[in-house]
This record gives sequence, C-alpha cells and structure tokens, in this order.
Amino acid sequence: MREVFARPKVVFSACLNFEPVRYNGQLIKDEFCEKLSKYVEVVKVCPEVGAGFGVPRPAIKIVFQNDEKRVIQTDMGRDVTDSIKMFSEVFLNQLKEIDGFVLKKKSPSCAIADAVAYKILRGEKIVIKTVGIFAELAMEKFPNSAFADEGRLKSYWIREHFLTRIFSSADLKSRSFNKLELVQFHESYKYLLMAHSPSLLRQLGKLVSNLKVAPMKEIVSLYSELFNKAFSVKPTLGKHYNVLQHLYSHLKEKLREKEQENMSRLLEEFSRGKISLKTIREVFRIYALNFEDNYLLNQKYLNPYPRELESEK
Ligand code: SF4
Repeated sequence: MREVFARPKVVFSACLNFEPVRYNGQLIKDEFCEKLSKYVEVVKVCPEVGAGFGVPRPAIKIVFQNDEKRVIQTDMGRDVTDSIKMFSEVFLNQLKEIDGFVLKKKSPSCAIADAVAYKILRGEKIVIKTVGIFAELAMEKFPNSAFADEGRLKSYWIREHFLTRIFSSADLKSRSFNKLELVQFHESYKYLLMAHSPSLLRQLGKLVSNLKVAPMKEIVSLYSELFNKAFSVKPTLGKHYNVLQHLYSHLKEKLREKEQENMSRLLEEFSRGKISLKTIREVFRIYALNFEDNYLLNQKYLNPYPRELESEK
C-alpha cells in the first residue's frame, strides 16, 4: 500500500493556528488545521495585515452600497475595500498551483460563505450572509481549487471530500506520465473516482483506453481536467456503498463463509451509517494485506490521504 503522499499546496488564513493576527490580537486554535499543516505545503495569509492594517485594529464589516460589496471599519466608518482588494490581487496573482484553501469562517475578508453583511432592501436594513472579499477573489482566480473553512471541516463528509480533493490533485500534479504510467495511475484511482462521479470515471476510462488519438500532452491535459472535475463532485454514502460492493465482489471468493457473512453485515451497517468509512476501509485494508492482493493494495480508495488525518466521524 503506497504510503507516500504528494504534498498539496494549501493557503490558510494566518489566524488559524499560525499567527495572532485577528483584529483583537487573538489566534484561533484549531486541532485539525494543526494536523493538516504537517502534510501540506503551507501558504499563510492575513489579507487585512497584508493590506497594511496593524494588530490590534478596528473591526470591519461588509456593507452593500448600491449592490456593491464594500468593507467598512466599524469605528470611523472608513472604507477599506480598495486596500484589501489591492493586496489580495497582488498576493493571489503570484500564487501558482494551489490545491486548496482553508479560510476563517465568518470573516469579512476570509469567509467562504458566511460573512455577515448589511444591505438596505426596500428602505429596510437587512442582514445577509456572503463571501468575504479576499475569499471571493481567491475563488475567481482558483475556480478548481477546494475551499473550506475551519468550521465546515469539522463535518466528517466535508472533511473527507476536502482531503480527498487536495491529495488527489497534488498526486496528479506530481506526475509526468508516459502512456503506461497514465494507465496505471488511472487504474489506482478507479474506485476513488467512482465514489465521486461514475460518469466522469467512464469518460476517463475511455480516454486512457485509446491513447493513440492525440499527442500525450493533450491527453494528459484533458485527463487532468476531467480528473479534477470528478473530485469536485461530492461523494455520497450511496456511491461509497456501491464502491464497497465492487471491492467486496473482488475479495469474496477468498473469504470463508463466516467472513463473507461478517463482511455483508459490515457493509449493511455502513449503508445505514452505523459504522464509519474509516472502519470499513480498515477492514478492506487488512484483508488486502493478508491476501497480498496487489490490485486492492494499489487502490487509492483504501488509502486516499495520510492515516493521521482519518477520523471516525
Ligand atoms: S480572518 Fe483573515 S483577515 Fe481576519 S485575521 Fe484571520 S487571516 Fe486575517
């Protein structure tokens, strides 16, 4: 089982575990970000400090003025939108090949969806949720990267999706394929792709089964595009169950009757959410190792990212 992982390049809000740069001089402690940072290439940023505001500094809020998003300092009412945008554009323009962003929730600069914003609608002041000003520019510049905040990453399936996405994206980028290597790479991702998008898995399969139709550079470029698109699709319990059934079919004839019964029970419990993906993956990993089953041992589905980042829920 391949335990070496390419290091994804991940941009973090600097106040998440790295530097006490919040407007009030605080640092947000986050256990998962701390663990993740050991396995990725960290790029940290505080767009507000980068824009020249010190620590501590006045808090800011988002206000819509004629449908335009503006960022205003809450004490003096100074509009600081242009300074933050200017820094963000320069910062984002010098970045290359970013696999993911982990940004601070609710921040007027960094939030990916839940910054509080004020708007006047039919003469009344209303409160809405929106994307922070830095996050918005980052999403425009890196539409294929994975975005999450420290709050969403506490949810099991969001974390699972985020991790799978950044590690598969980094793995793809770390390769320079010849024909055989591309076929082998695709074979190893077959079931992980199936858990995300069976239809894109079929398209990718067709592409690698006919490598004579175009120069290798073009094929790899199209393969990369479809591969990243597939991993942008959220996996579901049902799709995972389908993949596990395929893996079980592969293994079944090697199992004794009692083991088959036990495996059927585990799969059924998984489908009802009674046992975790981590547990069921571990069972398959153990069988794959015991039987020295190289086909299963090579499947990224059983080993999509470093074990320390796996959790029960
Ligand atoms: S949320 Fe963003 S802008 Fe605010 S302190 Fe953290 S990194 Fe800086």
